[in-house]
Amino acid sequence: PKLSTNTYHDTIENDPNRDYTYLGTRENATLLMLVRNWELDGALKSMRSLEDRFNRKYHYDWTFLNDVPFDDAFIEATSAMASGKTSYGLIPSSDWDRPSSIDDEKFESSLQLMQEKGVIYGGSKSYRNMCRFNSGFFFRQKLLDQYRYYFRVEPDVEYYCDFPFDPFRVMREQRKIYGFVISMYEYEDTIPTLWDAVEEFMADNPDIVDLETNSYDFIIDDSMIGTEMPIIQSNSMYNLCHFWSNFEIGDLSFFRSERYLRYFEHLDRKGGFYLERWGDAPVHSIAVALLLRQDEVIHFDELGYYHIPFGTCPTAHNIMLQQRCACDPGADSNIDIKAHSCLNRWWKMGGGKYFMKHG
Ligand code: GDP
Ligand code: MN
Repeated sequence: PKLSTNTYHDTIENDPNRDYTYLGTRENATLLMLVRNWELDGALKSMRSLEDRFNRKYHYDWTFLNDVPFDDAFIEATSAMASGKTSYGLIPSSDWDRPSSIDDEKFESSLQLMQEKGVIYGGSKSYRNMCRFNSGFFFRQKLLDQYRYYFRVEPDVEYYCDFPFDPFRVMREQRKIYGFVISMYEYEDTIPTLWDAVEEFMADNPDIVDLETNSYDFIIDDSMIGTEMPIIQSNSMYNLCHFWSNFEIGDLSFFRSERYLRYFEHLDRKGGFYLERWGDAPVHSIAVALLLRQDEVIHFDELGYYHIPFGTCPTAHNIMLQQRCACDPGADSNIDIKAHSCLNRWWKMGGGKYFMKHG
């Protein structure tokens, strides 16, 4: 493909010799990867896996985002790997960098404290930018304006099985807004005051939190407070369950909605993205659990997936064969059978109970 200069909301001129047409029905959706130039190798591995297992039949567009310009080698190799069109966006500094409202000294001392405590990525500045970006800014990028659904992809992940359906189509037909494959407990040290901020938000916004229909029960457990659970102990009502956001399929109109923005702005004002190390996974998950109806969330049971150090693999033998799965449901990395998976909570709460009705 011919490379054009890589500026914000730039689309490269895709290969004129390649046929991107798709004769079946396709949704208004894109595969989305936030990635660094030096992660090219891992990006290609993920792309190859997703193309093989799903996209080669559909040719959905790929959208790549970066806080620095993508280099030509990255653009060339990823557009060669994609079966759909590719676009490369440069994230504006105002959507990525630490805002001036965060005090320098407080920031530095919190970094040091978290690092000393051994919190994962506790001392990293860029990781915090990334988590805040994924929480509040990815859906505002110009390249995404034209799409309704996104499928988040990370470098170095693997899709273990053929997709038995187009998940975007399932989302639209079953009126789903958020889809996940893995759910687990978060490290509490990364979010000491997140739940306090959420409780404030709920108190201030009773009009947009419907406890009758949402998934409140999935993320709340007062019996865990201070008790010696075998693995998980939480100091708040929040049981630390979250959807693992390195895989997520979502409806962008939810994230662009006033209610989500109200939620994000409230959290952002608290400073916890920088003064603690709030992850986009618990931030998305709590929004999904509070602001959506439970039947608007879908667990994609049939999709095998791996991101270090956990995976999920269908257990039914006939599915393994039909979908050409290359994984072992009994493997040590299979989170679904582990105590720190939240999936049993999801089922217990009735997650997916509307699936049969709609599907
Ligand atoms: P982990 O999965 O929590 O261990 O974090 P990762 O290192 O995988 O980062 C999550 C996602 O954000 C991946 O898609 C990374 O490529 C991307 N990412 C992380 N930090 C940066 C960064 O500083 N710049 C860019 N452009 N992408 C980043
Ligand atoms: Mn990752």
